[in-house]
Amino acid sequence: MVVATSRSTEVGFETVIGLEVHAQLLTQSKMYCGCSARYADAPPNTHVCPVCLGLPGALPVLNKAALEFGILTGLALECRIPAFNKLDRKNYVYPDLPKGYQISQYDLPLCVDGVLEFRSGGDVRRAGITRVHVEEDTGRLVHRVDELGVEVSLVDLNRSGVPLMEIVGEPDLCSPEEARDYLIALRQTLRYIGSSTGNMEEGAFRCDANVSTRSTDGSILGAKVEIKNMNSFRAVERALRFEERRQRDVLVAGGSVVQETRGWIEDRGVTAAQRTKEQAHDYRYFPEPDLPPLEVTTKLVEAVGARLPELPGLRRERFVLAYGLGASEASLLTAEREVADLFEEVVGPSPRPEEARTAANWIVNDLLGLQRQRGLPPDTLPLNSSQLRDLLNAVAAGELTVRAAKEVLPQIEDDELPRAAAARLNLLSMDDDAALRVAVAETLGAFPAAVSDYRTGKTAAIGRLIGETIKRTGGRAKPDQVRRLLEEALTSP
Ligand SMILES: [Zn+2]
Repeated sequence: MVVATSRSTEVGFETVIGLEVHAQLLTQSKMYCGCSARYADAPPNTHVCPVCLGLPGALPVLNKAALEFGILTGLALECRIPAFNKLDRKNYVYPDLPKGYQISQYDLPLCVDGVLEFRSGGDVRRAGITRVHVEEDTGRLVHRVDELGVEVSLVDLNRSGVPLMEIVGEPDLCSPEEARDYLIALRQTLRYIGSSTGNMEEGAFRCDANVSTRSTDGSILGAKVEIKNMNSFRAVERALRFEERRQRDVLVAGGSVVQETRGWIEDRGVTAAQRTKEQAHDYRYFPEPDLPPLEVTTKLVEAVGARLPELPGLRRERFVLAYGLGASEASLLTAEREVADLFEEVVGPSPRPEEARTAANWIVNDLLGLQRQRGLPPDTLPLNSSQLRDLLNAVAAGELTVRAAKEVLPQIEDDELPRAAAARLNLLSMDDDAALRVAVAETLGAFPAAVSDYRTGKTAAIGRLIGETIKRTGGRAKPDQVRRLLEEALTSP
C-alpha cells in the first residue's frame, strides 16, 4: 500500500462496495433430495433424509426447478447463460454442515456478466452482476440454556440442502445508501419473477458486503473487508456507514486497513473483527463427482425466458406513460407485482386518465394505508379487484360519497362487495329530496346567523350550511344536491 506523505490536509476518500446475496429459491423440494423445502414452523430434524443428513453413500439428484429459477434470475439480471456449467464441492468443517462440504459452483457458474438497474437518490444507476450460481443451504445451530442451566448448541438440519442462489455483484456501489437501494431493487426483481420471497428477517435473503476505501488521488488503497450478519436493509445501511467511517479514520491516522471478516453487532451499532478472510484455495474446491456437468440448451433458456414477466423498472415507466401517473405513485404501485396487477385489473386496458388516477389514489393512499395498519404482507391488499372496482363504481355513480366510501372501506368483510357493506352499515348516499329537505330545515334552524348573512348578500355563507347539512346526514348527502335544496329554501319567501 502506498502511504501519503503528508496528513496535514484531509485527503478525499471514496468507498467501494460490492454485495453478495444468498437467496432461498421458492422450490417445493430441496436442492439434491426430495425433502420438502418448506420447513418453517416444522419441528427440528423432521424434513431430512440420508442425502441432506450427509449419510455416507447417499447420492444427490439435482432439482430441475432450482436450476430453472437460477436461469430465470440470470435472465432478469441480463446475464449470459453459458452452455455448460458444473457443480463443485466447497470443503469446510462446521457443525451445521453434516457432509463436511457444500455442493456449490466455482469456476463455471450458471449465469455470468449481468447488470441490475436501480434508482438511488433520484438517479438511475447500473451495477454489474458478476455471477449467479446455485448451491445448497446449511443446517442451523440453535444456542440455548437447557433444563440444567448448561449452555448447549443444537443442530437442526431442516434447512440443510434447501436450494440457494448466490448473486455476486461487481464492486460498483459507492455509498451505503446506494448499497441499500441496490438490495431493494434486487429483492423486488426476485419477488417479481417469483424465484424467492426475498424475506430478509426470515433469512431467505442474506447479504454480505465487501467494503474498501481509496483516496480520490489514488495514493491510498485500503484492503477489502467483508461484513456479515446484517439482517435488514436498515442494518446493511448502518453497518456500511459505520465501516466507511472506521476505514477512513484508520487511513487518516496513517494506519492500514486489515483484510478480514467483520460481523455487524446490531445492538452496539458496530462491526467487530471475526477472522481473517478465507481465500478460495482454503476451500479446496473440486468438481462434484456425484453429479454430472450441466448442459444448458438454448431451448431450455428460451422456455424459461418465456416465463419472465415485465420487470418492475419497465412496468413503472409504462405506468407513467400509459396511465399518466406521477413517478412516485407509479413506484408505489409497482413495488409489488400483486399490487400492480390489481391496479391493472381494476382499470382495464385503456382507462381515461382521471379513472386511472382515481384508482391509483385509492390504492396508494387508502388500501396501502389499511394494509400497513393491519400488518398485512406487502403483496396482500385488503380488497380484491372486484371489490375495489365495485367501490370505485359506486363512488363514480354517486351511490357512495367519497367520505362514506372511506368510512365503509375498513368495515368491508372478506369477499363482501363495498355496496353491500355500505347498505349493511346504512352508508349508501341519501339522494331522496324529501329526506334531505328535513336535514336542510334543521340546519337553517340551527344556524340563523349564516342564514341572514346569505340573505343579505353574503352568499359565501352557503358553504358553511352545505357542510353542516352533510354532517347531519352522516356524510351520505352529495354536495351538489344539498346546495340546490339549500338555495331553494333560502330564496323561498
Ligand atoms: Zn433430504
